Amino acid sequence: MNTSEKIIGIDLGTTNSVLAVIQNGVPTLLPINGQRLLPSLVGISPAGEVLVGTPARNQWVVAPDRTVRSIKRKMGRGELVTMAGKSYTPQEISAFILREIKQGAEAALGYPVRRAVITVPAYFTEVQRQATIEAGEIAGLAVERIINEPTASALAYGYGLDTDQHLRMLVYDLGGGTFDISIIELNYGVVEVLATAGDNFLGGDDFDERLANMLADEFMEAHDIDLRQDHQAWARLLRVAEETKIELSAAPFATANLEFIARDLQHKPLHIIREVSRYEFEALIGDLLDRTITCIDQALGDAKLTAADIDRVLLVGGSTRIPAVWDLVSVRLEREPHLEIDPDAAVALGAAVQAGIIAGEDINAILVDVTPFSLGIEAAEFGITGHLQIDMFIPIIRRNNTVPVQKSQLFVTMFPSQDKIQIKVYQGESPIASQNVLLGEFMAEELQPNRPDGLTEVTVNFQLDINGILDATVTERKTGKKTSAQLKASRQRLSLEEIAQSQAKLDVVYGDSRGEMEFSPLDDMVQIVDPGVAVLLDRAQKTLARPDLDGEMAAEIAGVVMDIHRATADSNNEKIEEYCDRLIDLLLEVE
Ligand code: AMP
Repeated sequence: MNTSEKIIGIDLGTTNSVLAVIQNGVPTLLPINGQRLLPSLVGISPAGEVLVGTPARNQWVVAPDRTVRSIKRKMGRGELVTMAGKSYTPQEISAFILREIKQGAEAALGYPVRRAVITVPAYFTEVQRQATIEAGEIAGLAVERIINEPTASALAYGYGLDTDQHLRMLVYDLGGGTFDISIIELNYGVVEVLATAGDNFLGGDDFDERLANMLADEFMEAHDIDLRQDHQAWARLLRVAEETKIELSAAPFATANLEFIARDLQHKPLHIIREVSRYEFEALIGDLLDRTITCIDQALGDAKLTAADIDRVLLVGGSTRIPAVWDLVSVRLEREPHLEIDPDAAVALGAAVQAGIIAGEDINAILVDVTPFSLGIEAAEFGITGHLQIDMFIPIIRRNNTVPVQKSQLFVTMFPSQDKIQIKVYQGESPIASQNVLLGEFMAEELQPNRPDGLTEVTVNFQLDINGILDATVTERKTGKKTSAQLKASRQRLSLEEIAQSQAKLDVVYGDSRGEMEFSPLDDMVQIVDPGVAVLLDRAQKTLARPDLDGEMAAEIAGVVMDIHRATADSNNEKIEEYCDRLIDLLLEVE
């Protein structure tokens, strides 16, 4: 095979992103900057350098205004984010991450990579899928296929590859920011999704927040200081909450340690050193975990199955390492879940399997996917009482339909003189159109009546491709004239020109970082006049940008850096000296 045709598999996660390819027929993770998981954060350093991954994650603690995290939650919403004073679309921010992954792949493989398969949560809307494709294009990647994360997991387990198998499985995927349930049926090499359910806003980040809030509440009680109001302190709290949570997956107790988190009125430093038990943590997140079980019930109901009909349960996503998740899922589904594949890696490995299939590598499987939502249009009709009922949602493609799919339905104009209709395309399950998600709208005009009563019949055709992109076409019965739209959700949809502009914008930012580095790393904070202190802070900044820096240490260094700034603002030389000594100690420890 031509190596330039290699297609990479990317799990573009809310918290972490993972890269995998097929090597010698086997799905394999490729490191990005030496790490298996690339934190999905992007930042611009004070020197104008683009930071992606761990350096951006470290910077987020000290400079949240220069750093963006969890961009996946904003994909397809047409909302801009600000990073270091410049605004970017979510596609552009994701493109920074994808570009890093592309470069990581090229470094590992030793040749250029241009094609990718990217995974998305099953619950992503068509607009969000489209935005993901655009992000890939901006990063210079042709996105060959978008696949659902749980489907990718099943492929990673090889279940989609064994053509002699018939299995039903439930994939429970709890990551950093999203939660997905899929019930998948494997029928002799064909993977079919029977039902999906989930929550786009549920994951490990929420658990961190619960724990951080508990610590902040206790601190408020004790010292009457709300740490949530101090961006730096809150960032440190979240970081330590995550570390404590992870420790609690392995041990019944863990200690949240936040030294120098604030100062009292007398400027005395205040600390948090708080032991948390697993039991206590589980109680904090109990209702969130219960919500995941409700989703299991919903998916089983949708697929018209009971727990006994499920042959395998797969746990995917970093948060499934929490023991309570295992317990709850085992009890509800009456069987032990499978965890043979690293839950962080499963999705990317499955994306690589799909990529390998497309590239024609020697892997034997066909992937069938379904649409997670119904797609339809708004319509009105005269009820039996003669009243006009408006805002009705008429589904054309129903939820859980296998894709690609094409469906048509006949509609008639309301009035004899009506020569145009507005087609509003919605996605959702509510019978009231406006309660669903509006994907786009367009007009079919100059209609010619074909019926004796002067009304016009049209067929509305929906064609949904395997990437979830919807083409809607209205065809006039009389003339056959067609009006179509590829989901005119143009607010969120980028033109080729816009993609080129965004590419150029990224190039400029990268260009900036390659240009003259006027090194004044903390120039947007307090002016540091003492050159010795400035050099020390510069050293700290560089250390914070190191990908291998331990999270707790990063938080500690960041805290002392802030202390130095505060002491400088107060012109408290004694304190400056004390904190500088502390910073030197910390830097020596890591250097
Ligand atoms: P993912 O999106 O699959 O990479 O999952 C990331 C999430 O998993 C983050 O919220 C992590 O804090 C969480 N996570 C990773 N390891 C563990 C662990 N051992 N215990 C609990 N949560 C974890």
